[in-house]
Amino acid sequence: MAIRFHNTFTRRIEEFVPQQPGEVRMYNCGPTVYSSPHIGNFRSFLLADLLRRFLEWRGYRVRQVMNITDVGHLLEDAEEGEDKLEAAARKQKITIWDVARKYIEEFDAARAFLSFRDAQWFPRATDHIPEMIAMIAELERRGLAYKVASGNVYFDVARFPAYGRLSGNTSEELQAGARIEVNPEKRDPRDFALWKIDPQHQMQWDSPWGRGFPGWHIECSAMSRKYLGDTLDLHTGGEDNVFPHHECEIAQSEGTTGKQFVRHWLHARHLLVDATKMSKRLGNVHTIAGLKEKGYGGDALRIALQKAHYREPLNFTLAGLDEAEKKVQRYRDASERLAAEAAAGGTAHATDEVAGLADGLRGRFGAALDDDLNVSVALAVLDEAVGEVNRRRPLGGDAAAFLALLREFFGVFGLLEKKTETPVLDDAGIDAMIAEREEARKRRDFKRADEIRDQLKARGIELLGDVVARCERAAPGSAELALALALALEFLGDDLVDDERPAEAVAPLRRCLELRERTAAPPPASPSRYGIASALNALGVALAESGAAAEAEPLLRRSLELRREERTAWRVAVALDSLGAALTRLARFDEAERALTEALELRRENLDRDHPDRAATLGHLGALHRKTGRPADAETEFREALRIVRARLPEHHPRIARALRDLADLLERRGRSDEAKVLVAEADAIAAAARAK
Ligand SMILES: [Zn+2]
Repeated sequence: MAIRFHNTFTRRIEEFVPQQPGEVRMYNCGPTVYSSPHIGNFRSFLLADLLRRFLEWRGYRVRQVMNITDVGHLLEDAEEGEDKLEAAARKQKITIWDVARKYIEEFDAARAFLSFRDAQWFPRATDHIPEMIAMIAELERRGLAYKVASGNVYFDVARFPAYGRLSGNTSEELQAGARIEVNPEKRDPRDFALWKIDPQHQMQWDSPWGRGFPGWHIECSAMSRKYLGDTLDLHTGGEDNVFPHHECEIAQSEGTTGKQFVRHWLHARHLLVDATKMSKRLGNVHTIAGLKEKGYGGDALRIALQKAHYREPLNFTLAGLDEAEKKVQRYRDASERLAAEAAAGGTAHATDEVAGLADGLRGRFGAALDDDLNVSVALAVLDEAVGEVNRRRPLGGDAAAFLALLREFFGVFGLLEKKTETPVLDDAGIDAMIAEREEARKRRDFKRADEIRDQLKARGIELLGDVVARCERAAPGSAELALALALALEFLGDDLVDDERPAEAVAPLRRCLELRERTAAPPPASPSRYGIASALNALGVALAESGAAAEAEPLLRRSLELRREERTAWRVAVALDSLGAALTRLARFDEAERALTEALELRRENLDRDHPDRAATLGHLGALHRKTGRPADAETEFREALRIVRARLPEHHPRIARALRDLADLLERRGRSDEAKVLVAEADAIAAAARAK
């Protein structure tokens, strides 16, 4: 079904068709940075974010610009008077540039709090004065602008007959309107300033018309054109922007280019607070930061500000926000339960019944938003889906199907995206995860074990550091806690090695080994001995990778002995692997080759071909063959290792970056630096994405 939006310009609901298939150019009038962002400002910004998310969900690439007004916007949106930023600077006794910096920071913080997707561009007006001057000059050349004796330059509205079409303000109404001040230097009371001369103004730039500053409206015409071209698919703002701001934008842009400026205009209605207009005078202005301080979450605020249709009035109350908090909790409970059930179910498929149900819900959700962003219906479908989850308590593949569905819905509304809002696990939760991972490893469910490891990692290596510290403090003598501590230290060490910080891993892993040895039952007994094997292996790897392969070798040999005693082929293979890599570093190539070949053979029978452990062995073999003059073999091995980690590991896993670099390094040596560069760029992108997480 086609997407349809109301178009302010035609006052009709129209099919939305972007100029280029698959791509949407969207411009959003952003904040004037002179005061703390409040919920009234954010209703229209959230409309922009919802459009972006919805269109991306529908498969469009969205090129989005949200401008930052830091000059030229005068008090009361008027043509004469004090600049909003200057007024703020005067009151706060700081410079106008400090005002801009302060409120841009607050705006960024508010967007982050509300989980906005970042626009590709947030251009600042003061960074685009040359573009504005060029546009004003073009308007002057086309006879649409004129300069008066004071040096001010005005747009000549009488020369642009379409003026008033967007707002529906006819020229008679405008001329009779009380808003129009009498200014004898204008040819027509409707004319608006493009460039102003005012020695009192703090910000001044040279121009063909003298030193001055731009009018408020010209920035949006100049910046939208610079980043998105002559014609925009979508332009949004608050309803107070329709006149005069957007009316003036149309006149300036179409006057300059002669082309249609905007295909589809969307405007958000005003927000009411406790059923009355929000204003500083009434003292009912809620800032985003103020609500955050009161303890409200960004997700609840998003619901409270998005729950009504954008063209309907929305009445904001704190009671409504409390309701939204409950809703968020309900969403979070459902999605956490689904995540746990889905993970426990492995790769099971959904039943036909649930798959069909999910498709139906997805279809209705999309159809509602296609219909001029009917959020009430879409949110009702979301609630219905959560209701089904609570009623059915789905398991395995069904849970995965519901989880995928809910994540799509949440994604469109920007909910449950922030890590900081997921409740931090208490001690028991972390211990349970660690224990579960160990269980998963025991039953050779690597997928689950890796998932838990990634979850732990997602909560940050720092968190693991916290666990370690807490265990140490809590019970220095307890064998049970020592075991948990040893595990935590091992994860921490493994992660540091994965992140190519092996030297930092050595100390925690030494401590881990110590704890393992202290708590192990004496031989010939128990599996706890193999905990020692695991610790020995981890420490050996960290040492070898940080340049102490000689020190690593005896540890790795001991680990191998224990593993052979244990008689689990894949664990023996892991030990051989680590030993082989260390021997390569020691330039004992024949021994290394034997160890690694044995590891591969053990895996041939006991492990699926695409297990990431097999990739590790192949990587080590590649490193060996690179050094022993067999570059063709090395290339085959590195490529196979890369294929496996790409297929099996999460997309930004450091082991993928590493496999890319190994292969790139080899290709570089083989004189194929063009191929190598591509791989290095990909590895850098992965590292950057992982850091951003
Ligand atoms: Zn604008």
